[in-house]
Amino acid sequence: MQSRRAARGLISTASSNLGERDELFKIPWSGWRYPTPCSSAARDVSGRLWRTLVSKVGSEPVATGPKVEPEAARPADKKPQILSHDYRSGMKAPNLRKEMIGLYGYEILKTAKGFRIFAQDAIDKSEIIINSIREMPPSMDVIRAMDDISDTVCTVVDAAELCRNTHPDKEYVEESNHASMKVYEYLQYLNSHPVLYKAVVGVEESPDILTTEEARRAAKTLRMDFERGGIHLPSEKLKRANDLNLEITRLGREFGEHMMRDQGQLDIFPASVIPKSIQHMMKPIWAEKDGRVGWSRRSKIVAADDSNMGLRVITEPATLSSVLKYVADSEVRRRVYMVGHSVPKANLRVLDHLIGARHELAQLLGYNSYAEFATAPTMAESPDAVISFLEDLSIRIRGKADEETKMLAEFSKQVDTSRSCTSINPWDESYYAGLLKARTFDLNAGVVASYFPVNQCIEALRIMCHSLFGATFEQVPLAPGEAWHPAVQKMSLRHSSEGDLGHLYLDLYARPGKFPGCAHFTLKGCRRISESDYQLPVVALACNFAAPDGNTPPILNHWEVETLFHEFGHALHSLLSRTEFQHFSGTRTVLDFSETPSQLFEHYAWDYRLLSQFGRHYLTGEIIPEKMVASMNDAKRMLSATEVQRQVLYALIDMTLFGKQPLPAKDTTAVIADLKLKHTGVRHVEGTHWHTRFNHLVSYGAGYYSYLYARCFAASIWHRHCKENPLDLSTGDNLRQGFLMHGGAKDPSKMMRDLLGDDALISATAGVRPCTEQLLTDIGLVA
Ligand SMILES: [Zn+2]
Repeated sequence: MQSRRAARGLISTASSNLGERDELFKIPWSGWRYPTPCSSAARDVSGRLWRTLVSKVGSEPVATGPKVEPEAARPADKKPQILSHDYRSGMKAPNLRKEMIGLYGYEILKTAKGFRIFAQDAIDKSEIIINSIREMPPSMDVIRAMDDISDTVCTVVDAAELCRNTHPDKEYVEESNHASMKVYEYLQYLNSHPVLYKAVVGVEESPDILTTEEARRAAKTLRMDFERGGIHLPSEKLKRANDLNLEITRLGREFGEHMMRDQGQLDIFPASVIPKSIQHMMKPIWAEKDGRVGWSRRSKIVAADDSNMGLRVITEPATLSSVLKYVADSEVRRRVYMVGHSVPKANLRVLDHLIGARHELAQLLGYNSYAEFATAPTMAESPDAVISFLEDLSIRIRGKADEETKMLAEFSKQVDTSRSCTSINPWDESYYAGLLKARTFDLNAGVVASYFPVNQCIEALRIMCHSLFGATFEQVPLAPGEAWHPAVQKMSLRHSSEGDLGHLYLDLYARPGKFPGCAHFTLKGCRRISESDYQLPVVALACNFAAPDGNTPPILNHWEVETLFHEFGHALHSLLSRTEFQHFSGTRTVLDFSETPSQLFEHYAWDYRLLSQFGRHYLTGEIIPEKMVASMNDAKRMLSATEVQRQVLYALIDMTLFGKQPLPAKDTTAVIADLKLKHTGVRHVEGTHWHTRFNHLVSYGAGYYSYLYARCFAASIWHRHCKENPLDLSTGDNLRQGFLMHGGAKDPSKMMRDLLGDDALISATAGVRPCTEQLLTDIGLVA
């Protein structure tokens, strides 16, 4: 995502400098994804694991119960009610009279302070349901009641999560933050609630009463979620587990704070060594006569000539990435690389503590390592499955990746004849990769972008919905007060015979205060509410595309089109869900499967049969040339083994650091240097420790491999079901019936075997790993 932000400067460059011949401007779209996965998975787990929710909050949860009103003091309308087959979403129906309704259609959110009542009501309602569970014999009703609690608290948490990340009004942000914290604290209490645990265990021990596979999965995952918090442990061990969870949360926050506080900086003179297109990311400075650096008007006057004019580079990820891609001076790249990869040093200590705390927690819970604990509920089930998958992939791609590295090194010597080394330096890789692609394929990101006006890209989403699922995807009016910003659009997905399938809010453009990056947010999960009715899913896509400037229609770089399709894949997973329980709605599935729909829909961004239907030049209306799309695909394949190798390395680092202890080298930096040496052709640079900014070690601990798992599944699904007729109702039907409608309700391994055949999965000692053949074919390794 950092690279997406970095390139934003190039979006405006692209739109204002069409026809620019400077090669450096041709490279921003590289055809590969930056090694930062989207944050959707992290944002979608709320319905899945109560404990996961707690571990992701930025505040320290308190392990005490909520203040519950005494029974007698409750208002009459809050009498315990069993379950909620008739429970409605709380969202108001379309408002034809245009009266004011609340945020996201929740009446309670007409004002920011409504979040207080929203959170308290959810807690009150949950307590009523808990009391009803006390009286229940083991039955399906127990599982429904648990799902009801999950739906109730997730409704608040999900609304608060979207609000605090996107709302321009500070009061709404503050109130949603408070509501989040309050519900997170309550979740901590729920996670260790003996009545709920006992009820779930009772149900699981009476399998005959669970009449569907989904109900059996629900009982099992709920019980496992409780036990992963240590509820079954003796009190002393449980207390230690709770303390460790708090410590892990605190360390995660500290890691993030250090990243924000210590971003690294250096001054570059003269400013002219930095391309104008990225200078806006830096602060102008001037060297004064006495040798000091200044940035006042006076300094500018004192500066004798241009050589005294420089730039202060803050090496936060976006700027760092842009410098490494676009600055032609190798020495400048080297200096910026060294600074950007050596901060924040304090996180070396934080990471050591985090590894220690996670390891102790895992051992308390009966696992040999944190990686074992993290993979237990996933498709992989064990670190062995993951490691064998990654090492096998590493061996298969090594030869091609080495060839690519050699080719890049030779190309760099052709460009810069003064270079003597035969290998490529880490700070040269990104620059020469971009330049090589630009020269080979004569592609200009600005020209490509001119075929993707935003409105046409939304048209692409409509085309996919109609062609694949026979559904309309149309803008519908927003009621006053429903949206959080004037730019927000509301879309309705509607099937001709099935009726409404769900709603999607689109919040596409960047603005101050909005979270960076692109993500899918769930507002309402799907669940059955009567024999024939489902609670309709409601989701939002929040992106950070360059806002319209008033002169030209907003356009997207091709990699932004790919990102939009990726997030739309998440949205379709949610919107097409028809699950009994919201616990399994859409993206609420195991981590190593949840990115499959999103990565599948990325394939559509590269297929001419769809691109030719919506890619039209924003000035002339010309359809994007087929030859251009072919070149884009060729450029994507170039250096693709290196790109996969990088992902394999990151996943191996993540698995090793949270694997068995002690670490196989003296410290985390040495582990990474060893892995890099073993699995890549690019050396580790002494003195650097880039992993102190690899936040996924905190948020995904031993889960980063999930992106490669999903990528393999997506590649296989595309080739087996979509490639021949990508825009066909039968294709859509296969995708929908095969996995999209089931969310996490079905065993993903079974779904993949049914969809792709038995060869799609390879059994490990425990769990499975995906077949890599199709991914390797895509990068040109298998004929
Ligand atoms: Zn994603």
